[in-house]
Amino acid sequence: MNLSIVIPLKDEAESLPELCAWIERVVTARQYTYEVILIDDGSIDDSWKVIQQLRSANPNIKGIRFQRNYGKSAALNEGFKAAAGNVVITMDADLQDSPDEIPELYDLIAKEGYHLISGWKKKRYDNTFTKNIPSKFFNAATRSMSGIKLHDFNCGLKAYHHKVVKSIEVYGEMHRYIPVLAKWAGFRNIGEKVVEHRKRKYGTTKFGWSRFVNGFLDLTTISFVGRFGKRPMHFFGLWGTLAFAIGLGISIYLIVSKIINTEFAITNRPAFFIALTIMLIGTQLFLAGFLGELIARNAPERNNYLIEEKAGL
Ligand code: UDP
Ligand code: MG
Repeated sequence: MNLSIVIPLKDEAESLPELCAWIERVVTARQYTYEVILIDDGSIDDSWKVIQQLRSANPNIKGIRFQRNYGKSAALNEGFKAAAGNVVITMDADLQDSPDEIPELYDLIAKEGYHLISGWKKKRYDNTFTKNIPSKFFNAATRSMSGIKLHDFNCGLKAYHHKVVKSIEVYGEMHRYIPVLAKWAGFRNIGEKVVEHRKRKYGTTKFGWSRFVNGFLDLTTISFVGRFGKRPMHFFGLWGTLAFAIGLGISIYLIVSKIINTEFAITNRPAFFIALTIMLIGTQLFLAGFLGELIARNAPERNNYLIEEKAGL
C-alpha cells in the first residue's frame, strides 16, 4: 500500500464527509493505493455513526473508536500502530489542513528520501493572541532545545516514512513534539513544507489556554528525558554533588572561623542556614538520582534499541 492517512478526531461529525470526499478526490487522481484511518477519540457527537456510513461507501476508510477521550497523542499512536502504507500522512479532521497537499508531501517522503516532513502554517487562520503569538515562542524554544530547524512543530499535517511511525511512541501530549521524538529515534532527515491553512469551518477548537502550560511542561520533560532518561544519576548526581560541595565549603568556613575566633557565633550567621539548606537539597538530589537509576534499571525497554540493519546475523 502506498499511503496511510491517519486522522485523529473528536466531535468532528460535520467535517468528516467533506474531508473524506476531498481526500478521495486527491488520492484517486494520483492512483495511490491507500487507506484512511479515522480515530474517534471519544466523540460525544455523531462522529462514529458518520465514520461507519463513510466506510460502507468506501472500504478504504477504516475506523478506530476509543471508549473515552484519551487525547490527540493517543489517537495518533493508535493510528500509527494500524497504518500499513509506505508513507503515512497525518492531518486534522477539522478541514483546517488541505488534502491538496497530500501528493507533494507524498513525493517528498517517497521520492526525495525524507524521513519526516512537517507542515508549516506560514499564513495561519487562528486567533492571534491565544494561538499565533504563543506558538511563535514555543517553536523558538523547541528549536533551540532540539536543534531541529522547524517553524511549526505542532502542525497537524505531517508526512512520515513508514519506519518512523513504527519506531516512535506518542504518549501523554507529546504530539506537539513528534519531530523531536523522531530525531531521538535516529531519523535525521527532517524537513518542512509550507502548507495552506484554513479557517475552522465547523465545530470548535479542542485546545484552550491550557495547551501552553502543558506544552511548556512537556517541553521540559522531553528535554530532560531525551538527555538523561537512561542515566538519571548523571543529572541528579552532578547537581547534588555541586550543591553538597558548596554547602560543605560554607560549613568548613564557619567551623574554621569558630576555631580561630571562639567568640564567633555560628548560629547567628545566615551562611549557616544557607549551608544547611544547600546540603539537604544536595542529599535529596542524590536520592532522586538513585531512585531514577533503580527505575531506569527495571524499565522493560531499558535495552530496546532500534536496529537499522544487520550483516551476517
Ligand atoms: N482531537 C482529538 N482528540 C482531542 C482533541 C482534539 O483527536 O482530545 C483532534 C481534533 O478533532 C482535530 C485535531 O485533533 O482533528 C486538532 O484539534 P483542533 O483543531 O481542536 O486543534 P487546533 O487546530 O485548534 O490547534
Ligand atoms: Mg484545528
